[in-house]
Amino acid sequence: MDDAATLTTRCSSLPLQHACPASAHAPPGEPRLKTNDSAATLGSAFHRAIASAVLADRMDADTIDEAAAVYGVDDRPELARLCWTGWRLWDTSLRRWFPEPRVEVEMRGTAHGLTLSGHADVLSQADREARVLDWKTGWADDGDPAPQVRGYAWLAMAGYGLVRARTWTVRVREQVADCDVLTWRQADDALRLVAERLRQADAYNPGPHCRWCPRALHCPALRQTLALSVEMLGYVVDEVVLPEEADKMLDVVRLVELACERARAGLKALVASHGGALPLKSGRELALDRQTQHPIVVTPDSMAIVAAECASDPDYCATLRFTKSAVEKAVKDNAPHGQKAAAWRQTLARLEEAGCLGETTTERLVVRRALPLINQET
Ligand code: SF4
Repeated sequence: MDDAATLTTRCSSLPLQHACPASAHAPPGEPRLKTNDSAATLGSAFHRAIASAVLADRMDADTIDEAAAVYGVDDRPELARLCWTGWRLWDTSLRRWFPEPRVEVEMRGTAHGLTLSGHADVLSQADREARVLDWKTGWADDGDPAPQVRGYAWLAMAGYGLVRARTWTVRVREQVADCDVLTWRQADDALRLVAERLRQADAYNPGPHCRWCPRALHCPALRQTLALSVEMLGYVVDEVVLPEEADKMLDVVRLVELACERARAGLKALVASHGGALPLKSGRELALDRQTQHPIVVTPDSMAIVAAECASDPDYCATLRFTKSAVEKAVKDNAPHGQKAAAWRQTLARLEEAGCLGETTTERLVVRRALPLINQET
């Protein structure tokens, strides 16, 4: 962001900057923290694939492969799961709101001393109304997206001379959409307030959103708050948290978790640089334990298999959350008594045979003896 006279920012930065204006005012030369590269890469690849699919009016494996290659995505099954889920949401619920959709539409405008830019993932016009869709591939607690989509709504109305905007923030993982309707006046008032807030260069507001802040490495407010948070948690025992303090305590817990996550990531990197096992002074070793899971990839094939196994109504799958536990419950609910486990095994076998089970690997840190007991001399 520039100085106060020429504030310039992008809509995608507004959630963090609205939560903490100081995040936009890093002193010159302050080292920046790169945040969550693999999640950002996955999100970029998803946006490319779904934009292509919306334009071509179909999602297919080639589209996903091309996006994975462009962004160097390692977790191809996870990308496929996101893409097919997003496509299903578009195809079954969203597309009817977006006549002649355009994708990745770059917009820019200036008002209230703020130059705002950003691109709408999907944009249409109908009934003198802007229709804006923003895809989210993170999780619900990644921050409040409202300032961002309101920014898109303002840009769309300003750019195309429209009086109203309807927005959809689609959380692909959770398969839900937040919808909003804004008049021009409401959007313009909201932008004025945002511009006023963003000028407060010294307004630090540490919280869970610090996870996304490039200043998090050296931010004095975050350091101070973390120290106080750790001290505060040291005094907490079961019944001491009062209901009226729950919000604040939740923020404290999230901040400390954030610090722990970073420390854990550092330890994992250290262990990985030692080939996956690091000898400790205690004689034990710190190791990386890999665990593999096989989530259901949402594709037309997997939807057909699940529909056949758990419901006669073909529209049923359009309403089903495609997590493994949700599908398992649906299949077992539909199976006769005494055959529920067998029905689920059969469904899994059919999904595997059709190539509809992905593979994701997670790593956790474990402390173990340097040598397995079986190899030790007795
Ligand atoms: S680290 Fe947190 S408190 Fe510090 S500037 Fe960033 S968002 Fe604000």
